[in-house]
Amino acid sequence: MIRKVLIANRGEIALRIVRACQELGVRAVAVYSDADAQAPHVREADEAVHIGPAPASESYLRGDHLIAVAKQVGADAVHPGYGFLSEREWFARAVRDAGLVWIGPPAEAIAAMGSKTAARTLAISAGTPVVPGTTEPLRDAAEAAATAARFGYPVLLKAAAGGGGKGMRVVREESEIAGALASAQREAKNAFGDDAVYVEKYIEGPRHVEIQVLADAHGNCIALGERECSIQRRHQKMVEEAPSVAVTPELRQRMGDAAVAAAKAAGYVNAGTCEFLLDRHGNFYFLEMNTRIQVEHPVTELVMGIDLVQWQLRIASGERLPFTTSPEPKGWAIECRITSEDPANGFLPSTGRIAHLHLPSGPGVRWDGGIEVGSVVGLSYDPMLAKLIVFAPTREAAIARMERALKELVIDGVETSREFHLRVMADADYRAGRVDIQWLESRLPTLLAQQAPRETRQAAAIAAALLADRDRGSRRTGTPSGGSATVPGHTNGAPAPAGVAGSWAQLARLENLRRG
Ligand code: ADP
Repeated sequence: MIRKVLIANRGEIALRIVRACQELGVRAVAVYSDADAQAPHVREADEAVHIGPAPASESYLRGDHLIAVAKQVGADAVHPGYGFLSEREWFARAVRDAGLVWIGPPAEAIAAMGSKTAARTLAISAGTPVVPGTTEPLRDAAEAAATAARFGYPVLLKAAAGGGGKGMRVVREESEIAGALASAQREAKNAFGDDAVYVEKYIEGPRHVEIQVLADAHGNCIALGERECSIQRRHQKMVEEAPSVAVTPELRQRMGDAAVAAAKAAGYVNAGTCEFLLDRHGNFYFLEMNTRIQVEHPVTELVMGIDLVQWQLRIASGERLPFTTSPEPKGWAIECRITSEDPANGFLPSTGRIAHLHLPSGPGVRWDGGIEVGSVVGLSYDPMLAKLIVFAPTREAAIARMERALKELVIDGVETSREFHLRVMADADYRAGRVDIQWLESRLPTLLAQQAPRETRQAAAIAAALLADRDRGSRRTGTPSGGSATVPGHTNGAPAPAGVAGSWAQLARLENLRRG
């Protein structure tokens, strides 16, 4: 059994892994850059080691150094989280070569799923449906035109080494193909040092539906249902849910079987995710496999009643999976990624110090966060601050619960996506489940038009913070909250000076506005 884990990550996922370790009686060792010295994942871990300056290239991406630190603290395993080094084959191999347990799939499985064309070839060999297209790099524009004609326009040119939507071009007619090929190749070369580009049929208006897979080292591999991740902006997911309104038990079974077949073909062990496009006719196509824990794993945990991160550790320790058939999801879970981005300003990253934080709670609410009051949100890392996740018996109840939880949430100090998420939850299309991967982008103008002006939102957040401070003050002094007002920071329960009660009423009006 693993006894001590080095967590090669930061933020909410590092804290999530710390919690899983502690519940299993495993010691958790955090690492931190200069920017994260005060971070919650550092404080909550059993030990923490400073690894360098803020830029990830000088801290969280220094694989050799991380392995040296793991050895030095006597860790017997490394958990990479997501992002950073989690899908680097060389790092998985180096961890193993250092005599440590890698809490993830074998390096060979990472490599097998590492390039889009390799993953497609593997999926085809496993009988898993892929988007119609090729697996060989295009030689020139003439070959591109001939191939596109074979599959029919529109087509998508894709970089074999691609990621994050880079090196991808939609081509709607033959006259565009030469230019699109040249620019996709150029972008791929710059981003990945590899200009291989291939052709896929462009699927119009599909949903992004992914299947969670869990495989142990004894040959058991099961699918744990789907996650619907169609609410995306620039290929970044913003809202995820489980199950999907578009997936019937019969389709779930077929997609699960297809994902398990692909995972088995790759010799997969541990937690992984097969991403699929699901078209309007119920056809699904394998896109790629993410060989790590996903950001959106909590929605699966809630509807399946399973702790995926704990199972990552247990599988890495050699344990067998307790089931041989896929469980059916129970209830409905939704996750909103709360980011420090300003939707009203082109989703520009917002920086600052968290001055006030009020976290939602109550039935069915889960907060996987990496921030607290005083946290400094900078530009060195991903803008995702936390994930707000809710669980309820039905989708309708889950949406109502998410709205309630978003209204309770107060983050003061940086702009966030909180209010934007409220708009999504209130949207008629979203509520009806009428979404695909293009929906959010096409709906942006409408959603953004409903956004209150920035000044009002800031004032409203401050109002919420002041009201919360007042309530805390009155609790300490025994004055009923909502009764005679006390001045914030002036908590002896003395009656407020004349005029202050009126200000509280004004603040309460602002707070109501904030709550939508
Ligand atoms: P990356 O690894 O660069 O993110 P993916 O292959 O995952 O690339 O594709 C990114 C996104 O582009 C997908 O989530 C989907 O929204 C869209 N996409 C990918 N392939 C197709 C396709 N063949 N047809 C339509 N949309 C696609």
